[in-house]
Amino acid sequence: MVTPLPPVVHRKINKLIESARNVNVQYPGFDEFEVFDNKEERKHVLVLGNQVCDCGMWQLSGIPCVHVISCLLHRNVSNFEEHVDQKLRIPMYLQTYADMIHPVPDKTSWPEVSDEKIWPPTKQPKPGKPPSQEGETQLKSQKRTFVRTMTAPSSAAQFAASSMPSSTQMSILSQASSSRGQPSH
Ligand SMILES: [Zn+2]
Repeated sequence: MVTPLPPVVHRKINKLIESARNVNVQYPGFDEFEVFDNKEERKHVLVLGNQVCDCGMWQLSGIPCVHVISCLLHRNVSNFEEHVDQKLRIPMYLQTYADMIHPVPDKTSWPEVSDEKIWPPTKQPKPGKPPSQEGETQLKSQKRTFVRTMTAPSSAAQFAASSMPSSTQMSILSQASSSRGQPSH
């Protein structure tokens, strides 16, 4: 006898049934299937008996993936519950919360257990990084200088002009210097 599923799993399966329209079953074998996912634009292979689909979602979540649902619909069966992992079914859920969960008092009433503070682990420099903080500061200032150089109008004009013939360079640089002298509107 198959027991009903918890509401959250039931809702997920209903969503997957809607999404199964985007999957075409190309090769239905006895227990093995080849499907084409139109959304992902790729093929998947799955084995129902082993509860394995090469997309990995079935094995990872314990809930049949959209490809499995599509194969079950192709076979005109709707016993999706049988393909859901045991740990996601209602009996296991009830067993998890069968024991009493005791209430926790406010932290002001917690007893002091130790005077020793627990600190996070010290940082180890990673390979390829500057060994000292000084090196990092230098790198940051170099980055700032580079950004300023690239965004400053006069420097941008100089940069653009450097790759042009000398007569064009002169006209661009003179325009840039004359525009700096003019008041802004
Ligand atoms: Zn799948």
